[in-house]
Amino acid sequence: MWFELICAAMAGGLAVAGLILLWGRRGPLGAVRTEDQKIETGNGLFDIFEKSLLALYVVFERKVIYANEAAVKLLGYDSAEELVGHTVDKFTAPEDLNLLNEMHRRRESGEVASVKYAYRALQKNGEMRWVEAHGSAVPYRGGRAVVGLAVDASRNVEFEKQSRLANHVFRSLTEGILVTDPDFLIEAVNPAFTRITGYGAADALGKKSLLMDTNHVAAIYSRDILHALKTTGHWEGEITDRRRNGQHYPAWVSISAVLGAQGEILNYVYVFTDNTNRKEAENRLKNLASRDGLTGLLNRATFVNNLDGLIRESAARGNELGVLFIDLDHFKSINDTLGHGIGDKLLKEIADRMRAELRHTDIAARIGGDEFVVVIDNIASAQNAERMAQRLIERISRPIVVNEQEIFVTTSVGLACYPADGADGESLLRHADIAMYQAKARGRNMLQLFRDDMTAHALKRMSMENGLHRALDRDEFYLVFQPQFSAADGRLVGAEALIRWRSADGEEIFPGDFIPAAESNGLIVPIGAWVLNEACRCMRKWLDEGLQLERIAVNLSPRQFACEHLLDTIQSALAVHGLEGRYLELEITEGLILNYSQDVTSVLNEIRAMGIELSIDDFGTGYSSLSVLKNTPVHKLKIDRRFTQGLPHDSDDVAITEAILAVAQKLDLKVVAEGVEKPEQQAFLKAAACDVFQGYLLGRPMPEAAMDHFLQQHLGEPKVAADALDSVS
Ligand code: C2E
Ligand code: MG
Ligand code: MG
Repeated sequence: MWFELICAAMAGGLAVAGLILLWGRRGPLGAVRTEDQKIETGNGLFDIFEKSLLALYVVFERKVIYANEAAVKLLGYDSAEELVGHTVDKFTAPEDLNLLNEMHRRRESGEVASVKYAYRALQKNGEMRWVEAHGSAVPYRGGRAVVGLAVDASRNVEFEKQSRLANHVFRSLTEGILVTDPDFLIEAVNPAFTRITGYGAADALGKKSLLMDTNHVAAIYSRDILHALKTTGHWEGEITDRRRNGQHYPAWVSISAVLGAQGEILNYVYVFTDNTNRKEAENRLKNLASRDGLTGLLNRATFVNNLDGLIRESAARGNELGVLFIDLDHFKSINDTLGHGIGDKLLKEIADRMRAELRHTDIAARIGGDEFVVVIDNIASAQNAERMAQRLIERISRPIVVNEQEIFVTTSVGLACYPADGADGESLLRHADIAMYQAKARGRNMLQLFRDDMTAHALKRMSMENGLHRALDRDEFYLVFQPQFSAADGRLVGAEALIRWRSADGEEIFPGDFIPAAESNGLIVPIGAWVLNEACRCMRKWLDEGLQLERIAVNLSPRQFACEHLLDTIQSALAVHGLEGRYLELEITEGLILNYSQDVTSVLNEIRAMGIELSIDDFGTGYSSLSVLKNTPVHKLKIDRRFTQGLPHDSDDVAITEAILAVAQKLDLKVVAEGVEKPEQQAFLKAAACDVFQGYLLGRPMPEAAMDHFLQQHLGEPKVAADALDSVS
């Protein structure tokens, strides 16, 4: 009977693998197959159903009434008896039972003639198996039986599942995906591709991948990419891509070749991400780490890095660079007096002014509190850099208004050029720094170009500045005294006190090497006070010993005049040692008179009022005008030893010396000649009516103990000196 059912089902449209079944009647429903039945089917067709590789089954009223061997096997059972008579529930995964029932209902009710569906069958061992069932309903015992065939669909279902998943991934990924054929013609793109590039699928499909298009920005990478794909089948890296709207953006791209069974290339798959946000975040971080928080200029480390890069580029292109080291003058006192808030505003404003003056290829950095550096890129010559530096200095020195206050800031600037003044960033920076120091030493508010001979000087000076700070506390200074003789009678009339510094390492340092440094850092004020005090102490001692020296001369630095305590310092030095002013002589410089004439004159008058004598040291080396000299309350001029040196043969020196002596005579000033080393110099000066001699010929500067002895010898015994003088006159 179920043969007929099956056959009817076949005839009703259930075509199974081209099998056309045409016949048959059969025995009672659910009966166990017998030899007899097999015969009954005729031509062994029963066996065909039984042995069919397709699983065949018949279900009536939800119970299995027939299952062939393949059906038994498909469900993992051993014999048909285990199936027949059982409801379909037993062989169906609970999840799909509803589906199965619905399919049966639709056929049994005649709603549809046949259905095809996939469901999960429940095997004997409890495992599920995907099965695809085709079935029709045929009339049977006054109702309808379902006749079906089933095939194992696990592979199909798995494949479908996979491809659905792949499709889902392809569509929902945030990475752009592009699939090309072996010739890089685009076969597929995902929505993210469109989102990132702006090109729709219609724009892209069938076209060549832009990475391989010689007209595209990214084509510069194509050679590398092709090489990598050929050798390893894979390439990845960052490229600059261009969106449809022309905007460039950084993209991270990974390309893989998909190979066929024979190793042939089937496709290329590109996966790429838009790196704009990451790059921006990276840049923001980099910016934070590379910039000075206050001014936004580069910080030191980044500056040195960038400078090295610029130098490499300049070397390749044969260009020159200018490195400016800029230090604000007296910034500390602005900070101290006006407060750090104003100091900060000032620094910001100065940074803005720098930015305004520079070209975009130049770089500027703040590398210390009030220290800035600027690199002027691609200068034609040092003069060119100098001009730009001057403009920058001028701009910075314009008044700055902070909190309704006008503030004037000046700068000292050092300039070193590449390649003339250094081959690498570090030495250029150091040399610009050294030149800047020189600018400070020369009076600030100026530009100084680096010169080779500054280096040794600067190194010495740096170590000296460190040592100077401790020298006073450590008692490293001492005085030497150089005697001065009267030209008229050869008497020892005075002595000049000259400072010496025996530094911690035992080195003897002369004033010419440390006084400029002490002047620039202000230490000259306490040092000068110490000298005054020490000179007064010695003078007192000699007088007490009956050695009637007329006076002791002490050198004063112009910086000491800038200090309001100078008069007090002098007064107390005299008072402490009970010395009258007339025993003291102070040597000032021409520069002092020129630069500070107003205030200084009144201080000089007060000094004079104390009975102290004043002399102008190194006279003739500065630029004093006669009118200034006339108004300055001094007693003496000291002819610098540079002029004494050429006497009596150098006509210029002779002319200058004679002019000084003539001026002094007119203004009623005495003249001291320094640096008298030779008898003929002395003879010339004596004949020209010079008043006092000082120099190695008559006595070198000597320490206190030697001077004690020298004084003992000479004072009271003027004959010795007089003899010496007579012998050359
Ligand atoms: P100055 O005041 O003109 O001192 C004279 C300098 O000439 C001294 O050098 C002295 O040693 C040197 N001299 C003296 N006679 C001769 C000579 O016959 N031939 C040669 N070649 N040189 C001679 P020194 O001691 O090295 O002092 C150099 C300068 O340092 C001084 O020049 C002075 O301007 C400054 N100085 C020295 N001591 C002090 C000080 O206590 N305070 C300040 N502010 N400056 C000082
Ligand atoms: Mg002197
Ligand atoms: Mg002098």
